[in-house]
Amino acid sequence: MTNLHHNLLRLKELRCNSGESPVATAQKVYLYLQPRLIPRSRSLASGRGAIEVALQSLDLICHLCAMHCLNANRDLVHSLTAAWPRVWKWLAFLHARCCENTWFDDVYRTRVLVIIPTVLGTLGVDEELRKAMTSTPGLITLIAKMWIAEENEGFEAPGSGILCVRALNELLHPYERPENCLENVISAAGDPDTVTRVALGRLEAEAASKNPNCDTLFVHISFVYTLSDARYPFSHHSFLCHNLIPVMVKILTSLVKQHPQSEAFPRCIMFCTGCLCDTLTLAKEPLRVCQMLDAGILPALLRAGGLMVDLEPKFAERGLTLLTEGLYKFLSYRSVLRSVAKSLRRIRRLDIGADIAGPLWEGFLVFKMTALDRLGVKKEFDEEHITTYKCHGPGCNRDDDSDDLMRCAGCLKIMYCGSQCQRQDWSTHKYCCKSSQKSMRDGIVSRMSKRDNEFRMSLLLHDFEKHAESITNMIQDTYPTISPSLLVTLIDYTSCPPNLKIQTVDFLGPSETCIWRSAIQKAEESGGQLTIIMAVFEAGRELGELLMTTTEVPELLKRRRLSILGGDACEPPLDQ
Ligand SMILES: [Zn+2]
Ligand SMILES: [Zn+2]
Repeated sequence: MTNLHHNLLRLKELRCNSGESPVATAQKVYLYLQPRLIPRSRSLASGRGAIEVALQSLDLICHLCAMHCLNANRDLVHSLTAAWPRVWKWLAFLHARCCENTWFDDVYRTRVLVIIPTVLGTLGVDEELRKAMTSTPGLITLIAKMWIAEENEGFEAPGSGILCVRALNELLHPYERPENCLENVISAAGDPDTVTRVALGRLEAEAASKNPNCDTLFVHISFVYTLSDARYPFSHHSFLCHNLIPVMVKILTSLVKQHPQSEAFPRCIMFCTGCLCDTLTLAKEPLRVCQMLDAGILPALLRAGGLMVDLEPKFAERGLTLLTEGLYKFLSYRSVLRSVAKSLRRIRRLDIGADIAGPLWEGFLVFKMTALDRLGVKKEFDEEHITTYKCHGPGCNRDDDSDDLMRCAGCLKIMYCGSQCQRQDWSTHKYCCKSSQKSMRDGIVSRMSKRDNEFRMSLLLHDFEKHAESITNMIQDTYPTISPSLLVTLIDYTSCPPNLKIQTVDFLGPSETCIWRSAIQKAEESGGQLTIIMAVFEAGRELGELLMTTTEVPELLKRRRLSILGGDACEPPLDQ
């Protein structure tokens, strides 16, 4: 019997031997993976034998991990961690000499394309092992290269693609991701756009297949979620420009419609929503929010609410965050309000109510109430300023009467009544469309228009009047002796519902240097007739970018003050 046959027979025995501890078996397998056994040149006939034995040994290691839960078998994890350097040397060799620059006439190629991602995906599940693995230079690059190459060579090794995604998913674990991991994936692929195109393309292909497999779909969703991480702007903007938002909303919509009976279903929903939620939380560009609303996030989210109530209790919390933190903070943009109006009509048409939306319904009603109130302000504002959107098609000019114009999917700025107008306009629009796309890709937020700023001012005055009674009460309670002209009412629109606060003017800084000096002066000189209101619309903004104006002191407050002052002033002690 040759040495090779002997070794293969021995490995077979090890695989069947169930009496031994996994660590003891693993120790024996490591002997077949010693670095000195790696072939040094292509000429040696024994090289093929060594590769055959290594492939079987690696497969046996994966088998051991599959049979014994790594979480419960810490000894096995420690021994695997110690053996990792030799495993890695073999993997790097196999990749270099059997896949990239092959020494062996492609005979091992198909198997290597499967075994490398299988080993990485299996070992990468454990935190300790993952740490050892991801600190190995070249590892992420190697698996990322295999993942990208699979785009063209997928037919060679069926299943290799999804195994690569699974492995990368484990290794790029979001909570302990080593530095530069995403950068390594991007440089292996060439540029961020390639990463985005391949990752989103595969997700879409899986979602569009006739009977999408939820487990596979989940791996792709989770991978896109990881790669599009909003904390990495270079990657995040690339995903946004490749339609991350509509793709995710579409998948969410079709998942809740089909509601496949799969254990992975709730995870798919959680991750789709999580990805959209993170995108919104960090979004600065209101047009992205319009895109999400127009794609149908609200009906999809509400439907998911009812389906998820028994499956995943955390979903309600995530859905509410999306509504009350993510979407809500954009309700001061007219463009977003327009998309909300459209969504509300769609929800009514689909007859979605408390029975369908489950725990999300209450939160949705709060959101809806605010939205309707602001839509009222918007309607008045638009009528007064005669501003309506029009179709940009040459000579068309169709009005946006029932919010039925559609946004150009490239720049999101221009609207058309249909594809015919868009086609006719493209030869002129394309220049400005492309430059807008470039700005968005660079993360440049479109400047707020003068009209939008005026609209915010209308909203501020509207809300001040609406809350006049509580503002009056607050002033009476906290600053009963100070003239309303020396006070500032702060309306914080970043919380849902808006938060009201009263401050004295000192809060704005020393009056000589304050940029609102003239407004403060105006209020002071009015002697109690005018008061200052101020709004925060976006979290993290500089004080200088807030909105502030002076307005009349509410009638109610004036009356109450008069009666208090009057109590002292109008009843002088009787002159004896
Ligand atoms: Zn038109
Ligand atoms: Zn465009």
